[in-house]
Amino acid sequence: ARQFTRPLNDLANQFNTLLSAVAGAERVFEVMEEEPEFEDHEDHEDPREKVHPQTAQLQTVRGEIRFENVSFSYDGDEGEKLDTLQGIDLHVKPGETMALVGPTGAGKTTITSLLARFYDPQQGRILIDGLDITTIARNELRRLMGFVLQDTFLFTGTIRENIRYGRLDASDEEVERAAKLANAHSFIIQLPQGYDTVLTQDAADISQGQRQLLAIARAILADPAILILDEATSSIDTITEIKIQEALYRLMQGRTSIVVAHRLNTIQNADQIVVLHQGRIIERGTHQSLLAKKGYYHDLYQSQFTSEAM
Ligand code: ADP
Repeated sequence: ARQFTRPLNDLANQFNTLLSAVAGAERVFEVMEEEPEFEDHEDHEDPREKVHPQTAQLQTVRGEIRFENVSFSYDGDEGEKLDTLQGIDLHVKPGETMALVGPTGAGKTTITSLLARFYDPQQGRILIDGLDITTIARNELRRLMGFVLQDTFLFTGTIRENIRYGRLDASDEEVERAAKLANAHSFIIQLPQGYDTVLTQDAADISQGQRQLLAIARAILADPAILILDEATSSIDTITEIKIQEALYRLMQGRTSIVVAHRLNTIQNADQIVVLHQGRIIERGTHQSLLAKKGYYHDLYQSQFTSEAM
């Protein structure tokens, strides 16, 4: 069986660590706002003078993403000289959806980790709206992004608090409106405590699909310009899957989205599909153009289609 585990876990874990280190969501926000990071860009004589105009620009971010010749290796790759990403060029226009496809280990998740600056590339540049992201403080950068991951980070607190984490000043009505748009409201109100249901940190009390719906509600509330989505895997029942797809569709309208795709039937409408293999882009195009090319994507699509039909 193909294995599709550990997608974006780095991101989720870093958030989880942060969340469990402090008492509540409000406190998290304070911590994140306290100390912008400026250690990054070599060209800065006095980065503090530069960050304010940039921050201002980023408040009206359009969400254009560029990778220019980006190469990256993780530290301690056991001496192997296999680069995790090599010479990656990407351009996603504001509002577009780019799907990343390829076998496990191809580097899909790493691309999203670089975009959120959990790591910085050894070579090349990443730009958002034309700004090199190493000139943007990490907390500013991540505030531009919404994450809907397979392993949604939930903290110990009520469902309401977990959704409100997307935007801490949201009213109860706004939380519920977001939950409705996310197709989460109906399952929430069926719980005995409704929005006041307390989730444990591993949230074993609700299903993986329901966790994703909560993540979508949170992202709707946060209203970010850029979305990073890690597609659900097959452990989700069909009805919840349809709810997720529908809610994601709503969420993605008007935002730049990067989808780490595992199952190809859900990305056929992406503006571009980028096929990665061993850290390199081997194909790119739309679903139709890639099928017509009869290359790697075509074969992957055929094999998934066949195995799902069986
Ligand atoms: P994908 O998302 O396409 O499955 P990843 O980006 O997760 O691929 O992984 C690309 C390569 O980098 C793999 O060889 C993986 O083992 C390695 N890798 C991923 N995360 C780390 C990490 N935190 N430290 C070291 N190596 C990693």
